[in-house]
Amino acid sequence: MFNMISEKEATCPYCWENIYFEIDTSISEQEYVEDCHVCCNPILVRLSIYEESITIDTAKEDDGF
Ligand SMILES: [Zn+2]
Repeated sequence: MFNMISEKEATCPYCWENIYFEIDTSISEQEYVEDCHVCCNPILVRLSIYEESITIDTAKEDDGF
C-alpha cells in the first residue's frame, strides 16, 4: 500500500523548470489546473494512475492536450 498523497516531478510548459506536483492517488483519472510554483502560470495537469504507476502530462492552459 502506498500513500494517498504522492509527489511527482514534471516540467512546466512555460518556464521549463522541473516542479513537483502533489497528487491524490485515490483518483485514477484527473485533469486540473495548477499554477506553476516558479513562474505562476496556469498549468493544465493530466494524471493517469494505475496501481503504483503515475503518468503526468502538462500543457499550457490555453493550448490544452
Ligand atoms: Zn513555470
